[in-house]
Amino acid sequence: MSGILGGQIALVTGASRGIGRAVAERLARDGAFVVVNYLQNRSAAEATLAAIHAAGGQAELCPFDVARGAAVTEAIDHLVARHGKIDILVNNAGLARDNLLLRLREEEWDQVVDVNLKGLFLCTRAVVRSMIRQRYGRIINMTSVVAHTGNPGQVAYSTAKAGICGFTRTLARELASRSITVNAVAPGFIDTDMTRSLPEPIKTGYLNLIPAGRWGTAEEVAEAVAFLASPLAGYITGQVIHVNGGMYM
Ligand code: NAP
Repeated sequence: MSGILGGQIALVTGASRGIGRAVAERLARDGAFVVVNYLQNRSAAEATLAAIHAAGGQAELCPFDVARGAAVTEAIDHLVARHGKIDILVNNAGLARDNLLLRLREEEWDQVVDVNLKGLFLCTRAVVRSMIRQRYGRIINMTSVVAHTGNPGQVAYSTAKAGICGFTRTLARELASRSITVNAVAPGFIDTDMTRSLPEPIKTGYLNLIPAGRWGTAEEVAEAVAFLASPLAGYITGQVIHVNGGMYM
């Protein structure tokens, strides 16, 4: 498929649903061959794949748990061997386990930090060697508005998401001379499975904080990712791009 990303290979983690799915479809529309990662929801991942194919794009499925080092290394080594390279990595897989600090269990903390933060480290480390070899790469990490504002009940999640911002800045400095950019996208409140399950009073409370007066869509986040993933964004690195309807400025 032709397009600004024609000939490029993009790995999107957590692409079976929500923001990851929208990013996968968007990058495929720009011509990238998209590797659709997910954890367990095969039918949702197949729906992402079918949507990409229906739009004339190219993609394949690649399930693995981003938080398990051995699984990540095996899957990504295999991908690089088969495709020869990975040009774009979107570290999107994430989950929330909300609880006030005094009620937060150690397993919940570990799960949130393992998937959101350690998973990003494991996937990036596995991909970056091939990017250094070809002296080109785009890494985009999914953080959150709550990394900047804090949010009661999300101490583990906001800590992991704030860690992503530090990771992004440091890695941007490490890799800039190799023409590899590293940026983060910080969505506000976006209509996906993750937020749909919130109780109605909490949703109304969040809505009151958004000057745009509505929740964002996964497609609106995907537009920011697509720009950062493109050759057009070659002089942008170490940045956090906010997509939040004015909720945080
Ligand atoms: P979502 O609808 O809950 O989808 C989560 C995705 O992550 C699914 O594809 C899921 O795969 C995958 N996943 C979960 N754990 C995984 C693991 N261990 N290994 C591989 N894949 C895993 O979430 P979303 O709302 O689209 O959020 C996507 C990203 O944006 C997350 O990093 C989230 O923290 C961030 N974010 C979201 C919002 C929002 O308002 N929605 C706001 C700010 C930031 P399965 O389908 O197989 O479970």
